[in-house]
Amino acid sequence: MTDWTEPGAYEVAPGVHRIPLPLPMDGLRAVNVYAIDNGDGLTLVDGGWAIEEARTLLESSLASIDRKVSDITSFLVTHVHRDHYTQAVTVRREFGSHVSLGIGDKPTLDLIHATDVDENPYVPMLRLAGAPDVAKEWADFTADSTPDLSIWEYPDTWLEDDHQLTVGSRTIDAVSTPGHTQGHFVFADVADGLLFAGDHVLPTITPSIGFEPVLADQPLRDFLESLAKVRAMPDLQLLPAHGAVTASSHARVDELIAFHDHRLDLCRAAISDNPGTSYDVAQQLPWTKRDRKLSEMDVFNTALATLETRAHLELLVARGEMTRATIDGARVYSM
Ligand SMILES: [Zn+2]
Repeated sequence: MTDWTEPGAYEVAPGVHRIPLPLPMDGLRAVNVYAIDNGDGLTLVDGGWAIEEARTLLESSLASIDRKVSDITSFLVTHVHRDHYTQAVTVRREFGSHVSLGIGDKPTLDLIHATDVDENPYVPMLRLAGAPDVAKEWADFTADSTPDLSIWEYPDTWLEDDHQLTVGSRTIDAVSTPGHTQGHFVFADVADGLLFAGDHVLPTITPSIGFEPVLADQPLRDFLESLAKVRAMPDLQLLPAHGAVTASSHARVDELIAFHDHRLDLCRAAISDNPGTSYDVAQQLPWTKRDRKLSEMDVFNTALATLETRAHLELLVARGEMTRATIDGARVYSM
């Protein structure tokens, strides 16, 4: 079987093609966008990252099915992350395509556009999570990065609440699935048994939780509720943003729920031994499929892991299983 990142346009259902686009310098390797024939042209689920390599490959992949980038009339973007959103913005500038994005991601876009921010938002979050050294490293690492606002322009339409869309002859359910980001949406064609899942349900990895510049109160609770929502829908073919297409959305949702149950158990066990911060607990947990230690990871992944642990501990507090107190500027959890 060919690797899912292999360039091309792969038919997953009549009139629907999966097109993997490159993500250089990114551990995820590639992002799938899905081109749906809408009668007048194409609707793309996700746009890819606005970089030259992705644009070139989008062109050649569409050419292989006798289509052009100018055929794209609209984008349904699952969430605001750069590998999903930014190329929708650059294609719109050239061809006037219509771009939709979940309104829950508006605070993130607002923050990208804000000019009066003098501290990277993750720096105070990491301090509060008990990781002042990581916060310092993060501050240095992001010191000179100013976003290119031209790839972060606002969408034409904010998606709000669950609703149905018509895409050519198809009826698509737009389903709000906050968790990975607050504005995340999945798109389902129930008649054809397709779930365009974005990063909400990924086949081989778990999406990051609690890693947003504007933090949700309970990102993990939101994510688990959104998983339950998708589990209550019919079992659909899983069309993920990263990874190969798989047969059953239900099977993977069950695995993701079990994964987080297990992480919650590990967090309980860590705190019942000793009160500690999110960073303390993250150091005791295994990370990635290879069960790596936190200390073996770079600053970016250390921050990701620390804030995901925070999401687990905050959920246990909300469920009344733990308490927390702020001591010396850091949240300390205890049973
Ligand atoms: Zn993402």
